[in-house]
Amino acid sequence: MIGVLALQGDVREHLAALAACGARAVPVRRPAELAAVDAVVLPGGESTTMSRLLVTFELLEPLRARIAEGMPAYGSCAGMILLAREVLDGRPDQEQLGGLDVVVRRNAFGRQVDSFETDLDVDGVVGDPVRAVFIRAPWVEKAGGDVEILATVPDRTVTGAGTGEAAGRPVAVRQGQVLATAFHPELTGDLRIHDLFVQMLR
Ligand code: GLN
Repeated sequence: MIGVLALQGDVREHLAALAACGARAVPVRRPAELAAVDAVVLPGGESTTMSRLLVTFELLEPLRARIAEGMPAYGSCAGMILLAREVLDGRPDQEQLGGLDVVVRRNAFGRQVDSFETDLDVDGVVGDPVRAVFIRAPWVEKAGGDVEILATVPDRTVTGAGTGEAAGRPVAVRQGQVLATAFHPELTGDLRIHDLFVQMLR
């Protein structure tokens, strides 16, 4: 059973996408609900708000512990930020769940392209490119050696943001049982990213 962290953000959309993939998915708001699931999805939303609510709902430590023990996790956008080891341009008191040996830059794409869509080739996803929706999205600024980069956004998409010496900005990554995307597949009806996560659990 997959839990979707249900403190804030686009919880319903993830529950619907997982159900459409044939997975059993339930909202998680309490430690007892977390204890009952085998994997977790961290939705898009606002990472600083989610971080605060994780503390209030006494889920921060148990969730950190489960992820450290190897529970599979998938985070989209704000969820990716929560899974990162470190956040640039975050709030000073923002808490990290960890699980991904990456440094992410929050709101990385800058004002001009706060929100945009593009077609992305994602490793592990067969067929047409994935239509990727970015909403005040992060990118991965630095990734450890165990992190697989599954997709990058070319720097030409990144108008007016960053210094851009890299060949592209990683926006989908995987490390072991942890998957993260800077974009929101839960908003497009394309189930292939959720399916990739569900396949990782098999
Ligand atoms: N900018 C948001 C944050 O810092 C993430 C946006 C999103 O999840 N669409 O958490």
